[in-house]
Formats: sequence, C-alpha cells, structure tokens
Amino acid sequence: MSAIIESFNPILLFAGTVILSGLIMSGILIRKRLEASNTHLHDVQAALDESSIVAITDPKGIITYVNDKFVEISKYEEYELLGKNHNILNSGYHPPEFFHQLWKTIGSGEIWKGEIRNKAKDGSYYWVETIIVPFLNKKNKPYQYVSIRTDISALKTAEANLNNSLKEVNDIKFALDQSSIIAFTDEKGIITNVNERFCEISQYSREELIGQNHSLLNSNLHSKEFFKNLWKTIGSGEVWKGEIRNKAKDGSYYWVHTTIVPFMNANEKPYQYLAIRNDITERKKTEEVLHRQDKLAAVGQLAAGVAHEIRNPLTTMKGYTEYLQLDETNEERQEFLSIILDEIDRVNNIVEDFMVLAKPKAVELEERDIIPIIKNVISFLEFEARKREVKIRFEYEGDIIQIECDENRLKQVFLNFIKNGIEAMPDGGDITVRASIVNNQVQIAIQDTGVGIPQEKLKNIGEPFFTTKKNGNGLGLMVSFKIIESHNGKVFIESELNKGTTFNIVLPAKTA
Ligand code: ADP
Ligand code: MG
Repeated sequence: MSAIIESFNPILLFAGTVILSGLIMSGILIRKRLEASNTHLHDVQAALDESSIVAITDPKGIITYVNDKFVEISKYEEYELLGKNHNILNSGYHPPEFFHQLWKTIGSGEIWKGEIRNKAKDGSYYWVETIIVPFLNKKNKPYQYVSIRTDISALKTAEANLNNSLKEVNDIKFALDQSSIIAFTDEKGIITNVNERFCEISQYSREELIGQNHSLLNSNLHSKEFFKNLWKTIGSGEVWKGEIRNKAKDGSYYWVHTTIVPFMNANEKPYQYLAIRNDITERKKTEEVLHRQDKLAAVGQLAAGVAHEIRNPLTTMKGYTEYLQLDETNEERQEFLSIILDEIDRVNNIVEDFMVLAKPKAVELEERDIIPIIKNVISFLEFEARKREVKIRFEYEGDIIQIECDENRLKQVFLNFIKNGIEAMPDGGDITVRASIVNNQVQIAIQDTGVGIPQEKLKNIGEPFFTTKKNGNGLGLMVSFKIIESHNGKVFIESELNKGTTFNIVLPAKTA
C-alpha cells in the first residue's frame, strides 16, 4: 500500500503542475497575441482546438462557439449548445459563491482559473481544469470570454482513490499502533523506530532503543539455531512468525508473539524489517502453571493412597525401635538403632508431605497477618543460614498484610522456598523476601543469588521426586505448589543461571 503512495504522489503532483502551468502559459500567451493582432486568432484557435476543450461565450455567458472536444466531452450536439447559457453544464457540485467569485473575476477583466465539475448531457460528470480569459473592449469591459479546458476526470479519480488509500493506510497504522508492539529495524537489525507500546513493555526509552541492535532484548533463552533460522527466513524475504522471550531493562522477562515482515528493495534484498509483536506473557505463565497442575493432579491421588498405607506401619516401626533402644547397652547397636530412627523420620517426612496432597482443598482458612508468619520462618532458619554464610532479608510494605490462610501450611511453603534458596548457594549469598499488596493481591517474592535453574530443567520443577541434591527428596516444591493452589494462589518462577532464582507467590488479599 505504501508503495502505491510513494510512486503515485510525485507523478500526480508533476502531472498536475504541468497541466496547470501549461494552461496558464497558454492563456496568457493567447491574450497577448489576440490583443496584439486579431488576424492570428484563427491560427491560435486551430492549435487550441487540437489540444483543449474550447468555448467562447458572450458577456452574459451565452455560448457562441464550441469546438469538437467540447461537443465530445459534454455529449451535446453543437446546435444544442450554441445560444444556451453555459450553466447548462452546471453539475450542482459547486456552491453559488464559487460561480459568483468566478464571474466577479472575469467581469473585472481578470483571468480565472480553477477546477470545475461539469455535467454531461447523459447525466455523467467530468472534471475540467479551466481557464477563462476575458477579452476587453476599448472601455475595458469584457465583450467575450474564451474558456480553455482540460479533462482531468482521470486525475480526479486517481486523487480520490489516493485519498481513500491514504486514509486506509492511516487507519491500519493507527489500529496497529494501538494494538501491537511495533519496531522497524534496518537490514542489520539496528532499531530505527519503535512505538509507545514497545517502550512500555521493554522499559527502555525511544532514545535508548533507536540505534541499538535488537539483540539488546535477548533473554538468552532461545538457541543460536533459533535466531539463525529467523534471520535466514527474513533475509530471504519471507515473513517469520514465532514466540520469543525478551528481557526488559529491569531484567524481567516478557513473551511476545512476533511477526517480522521484510521490506524488499528493487534488487530483491531486504532493506528494512517491520516487527509486529503482541504480549503473551500471561498466556505463557498460565501454560506453565497448567502443565504443572496436570502432573500434580495425577500424582496427588496416587500419593494420597500410598501415604495412608505407609503411615501406620511406620508408626509401629518407630515405636518398636525406640523400645529396643531403651535396653540396648551395646554402643554399636545403639548407633544402628539411631540410624534406623533417622531413616524412619525421613520416610515419615515424605509421608507427611504426601498427606498434604491427600486433602488439597481441605485446608482450614483463617484470617492472618503474614508478616509475623514470614518473620517466624526466617528466625527459625537464621541459624542454619548463618552457618552457610547466607543473609536473609525481609522487606514489606505496610503494617499488616492480611490473608486467609492455613498458617501452618503456609509456614511450610515459606520454609521450603527459603531452604531451597539456602541450598542453592553453596558459597553463601543473599536471600530477599519481599511482601506487598498489588491490585488486591498479596505478592511474596523469595529471591536468592544462587546457582539458578537451567532452562531445560524448569519444566521439571514441581514434579514429584525431581531433585538435583544428594539428600533431596524432590517433594518440597510440589507440596508447596499444592498448598498455594489450595489457597487459590499461583507460583511463578524466574531464574537465571548463576544469577539466582525468584519464586513469586501470588495470593488473594483479604480486604477489610
Ligand atoms: P529438594 O529440595 O528435595 O531437591 P524441591 O522440590 O524442594 O526438592 O526442589 C526440587 C529441585 O528444584 C531442587 O533439587 C533444585 O534442583 C531445584 N530448585 C528448587 N529451588 C531452587 C532454587 N532456589 N535455586 C535453584 N534450584 C532450585
Ligand atoms: Mg527442597
């Protein structure tokens, strides 16, 4: 569409200018020559008849002469025109002031020029570029008018079409601008223009973006192959479509569905690219959560059944072992019994975790302030954290953050997340817990500066028994997700390798 405009506009302008200046020139020339000598009139008329639509009227506008072109375009016969007022051709398009002005001009001896829409005999319309030259008598009063016209109907149609397509282009541009994230880059991927939404989502200003390579937003998720393939596609002039994760200025990620359209030059080489993107971050997050919930539901039921069966024999085993320990004097045997008890404890912990899965919705919700709950968990872990040179900070907004929750289970969640954070930092580091209320939702972020989670492992997070630790059981996260879910909340994970991991918990706030 833009190609049409670019090629049409100058042509139209040029054509219009040529016609107009041609007419003015010929008008002036004619008058001078005619005034100089009436004997040339016939020569001039002959020349004009060939090129233009010519008519002569008397001072009142009564037609006294028409040439063949006039007859042809007006579709009247010559005899139907002679003796008639020129307004026989009036199409009703122009207001009375228009003709008033025209008559005022030529009546005072001035040349009038303009564009007029006339009506032919069959009712069809035609546009003529018109010059009317008054011929003056000795008293400087016009005794006749010569009008020279050129058919510009085609020009007018083209102009109207052009205006329509221009408007269409503007409408499309507006709609696109409102709905999408837009960027133009040159053939090397250097950003040449972006719209407001691009700045909003990327958190960069226009000034920061223009002139930069688009890879500024690369989030290191997609492989080299991925981008190679993208460039191969658009470089050969094909449209590329796909989903990309980008990194905003503050380091957070956003997902965009992306369409890249190459603009080709005359040599079939792209000279710029238009990228149209739409934010799909929410959808991506939902996909992740759904993926996890599918697995949870299936395993949850199985786990619930198994846990019940194990709990009772486990209690019996523990009881008998403790009993044996009472009378045992042999030190070595005493130690073995301790090991057995430790192991029973370990199994018991697993079973306890499974029991949570057994009754996912049967939590007892009570109104609580989560600030002291989190403080309590942190102080519980303080000793272990200090041992591992981990500093735990707690930042929160407001005095209380009220929530409907099962306090003990929520404690278990915070414990799991913070413990995982400590364990992810073998050389020490920082854990920051942030709590705030945003849009009626309680947001709790648990951020560590640890090893991070590799992209390909993210999908395993929350799967039962997925662990990368020697002594891990791979149940902590699964249970935590389940608990949050039973509180009508969600968990989002952000992680960057060797930078750290953030678990974001979102829970409905209890409004007063
Ligand atoms: P466990 O802690 O017993 O391994 P979890 O369910 O708590 O089981 O965690 C599962 C796995 O998820 C961990 O083994 C680890 O690989 C990964 N993980 C969890 N939290 C973090 C974290 N904060 N940083 C890096 N990896 C983590
Ligand atoms: Mg754990």
